[in-house]
Amino acid sequence: MSRILITSALPYVNGIKHLGNLAGSMLPADVYARFQRARRGAENVLYICATDEHGTPAELAALEEGLPIADYAAKYHRIQKSIYDGFQLSFDYFGRSSSPQNHALTQEFARTLWAGGHLDVRTTRQVYSNADKRFLPDRYVIGTCPHCGYDRARGDQCENCTRVLDPVDLIEPRSALSGSPDIEIKDTSHLFLKQSAFAGEIRTWIEGKKSEWGTVVTSIALKWLDEGLRDRGITRDLEWGVPVPDDIADGKLKGKVFYVWFDAPIEYIGATREWADAKGDPTAWERWWRAPDNADVRYVEFMGKDNVPFHTVGFPVTILGSNKSSNRPWKLVDEIKGFNWLNYYGGKFSTSQKRGIFMDQALEILPADYWRYYLIANAPESADSSFTWEHFAATVNKDLADVLGNFVNRVLKFATARFGSTVPAEGKDGPTEQDLAIRLERLIGLYTVQLEEMQFRKAAQELRAIWVAANEYVAVAAPWTTIKTDPAASAASIRTAINLIGLIAVLSAPIIPQTASALAEAVGLDPNKLIWPTGKAADELRKIKAGQAFTVPPVLFGKLLPDQVEAYEARFGGDS
Ligand SMILES: [Zn+2]
Repeated sequence: MSRILITSALPYVNGIKHLGNLAGSMLPADVYARFQRARRGAENVLYICATDEHGTPAELAALEEGLPIADYAAKYHRIQKSIYDGFQLSFDYFGRSSSPQNHALTQEFARTLWAGGHLDVRTTRQVYSNADKRFLPDRYVIGTCPHCGYDRARGDQCENCTRVLDPVDLIEPRSALSGSPDIEIKDTSHLFLKQSAFAGEIRTWIEGKKSEWGTVVTSIALKWLDEGLRDRGITRDLEWGVPVPDDIADGKLKGKVFYVWFDAPIEYIGATREWADAKGDPTAWERWWRAPDNADVRYVEFMGKDNVPFHTVGFPVTILGSNKSSNRPWKLVDEIKGFNWLNYYGGKFSTSQKRGIFMDQALEILPADYWRYYLIANAPESADSSFTWEHFAATVNKDLADVLGNFVNRVLKFATARFGSTVPAEGKDGPTEQDLAIRLERLIGLYTVQLEEMQFRKAAQELRAIWVAANEYVAVAAPWTTIKTDPAASAASIRTAINLIGLIAVLSAPIIPQTASALAEAVGLDPNKLIWPTGKAADELRKIKAGQAFTVPPVLFGKLLPDQVEAYEARFGGDS
């Protein structure tokens, strides 16, 4: 069985993320990891993520909170980790880009690239703010985008047209800190990664992935290449970060740190090393990342579209450049799953305008599975998708409460009332059960393919279709009617329905893991040992045998009432 390495884009450490961040990388990656563990065995899947902790925004946020930056980063790492635990994100390891492991790896990559001639030192003209008395990192220079005219484009990237920028490209530039236009350009030395030399190699690689990767990813990557791949400065005048080692460029860059975009993707490897160290097997990370031991590994990255350029060009250049002088090449990504935006009422989530829902608030309101199901069923895959409270409430009430919750509750309550607390033995399967098995086999097949292909919206539709099939089965078999005329037939239907609940637990676990555990426990299955069905559906429906004890779980999903929806709209902002 081949192994699968999964990473989701590293959430930045400054504060708490909103539901859009969850929907566009961590949640689908988690669904995929859970599915693959059930299919391949947990030992063949590794899901890695971490907080991205370096860079100016973290420094400034720490200043604002009056905390030393290291304390600030540790605090928000802890807070984010506990929220992700609340959402049941099943990272094998959730690391920190400020870890010693990542420091060591980042410096090692830089040394290798330097020795291979892929880096050089250049004097650059950098924006210095007289008002703020400091060099301004690219993203702290704002101005008008020369490409699309957006008037709040940042110096590193225009968030309106996604083009990568240089601060000197901006029209009417000003400091984002003070708003002051009193800025000048001064000379400073930086290390540059010679990306332009890799333009051909990267293009050939991306072109070759066109049919495999979605257009979200390849169109952004190719657009970036079409604009001409420029060499990129990979150091900054900051204190917080991975220091440039003295043995690079004869110590000319003493006191500088690597640019956060250089060290953050290396933390995918760094966090794997943190995982290996934590479990006392300090070379285990290399078996995932370095040839030849990782020949059976497929590496899949999940990210929002804003992260595509750095994952299709920046990080691959780091890997390809290092591999030119290594006999143990690093793993290059095999598949990138990119997402569009989840919007809030058609507009952007906004922290400053208090629009949209942050992950901690979401968990205060409702359990994780409500959000997980909704966000996967409406994943922003081929286009942006938009959250509204009405749509959310309608989805919860219909799919989760009516279709799934009601089925489980109705079956198990009736079974307890009529057959006691163990699965009844009477009766035999008939044509209704055979029809159900045929239908399930087709649906499970489709669902499995959609998950394998990471088509999350379609996967959620197939899962829902399986719940619908379960409802339709009991509607036709009608054990509540046959109990009066043919109790053995009623018992057989209930036995099948309880098996359906067990099967639904297995199939629903990637998307709604807490509910799946409750279902599994109710029908006597071990929620930690759910194995993906590969055999005949008819056999899956006979796994839970007569005599097995079962219980009725508490109501799985409560309905959201109109006054609740109104209150949420008022609290979070509902119009746009
Ligand atoms: Zn623009």
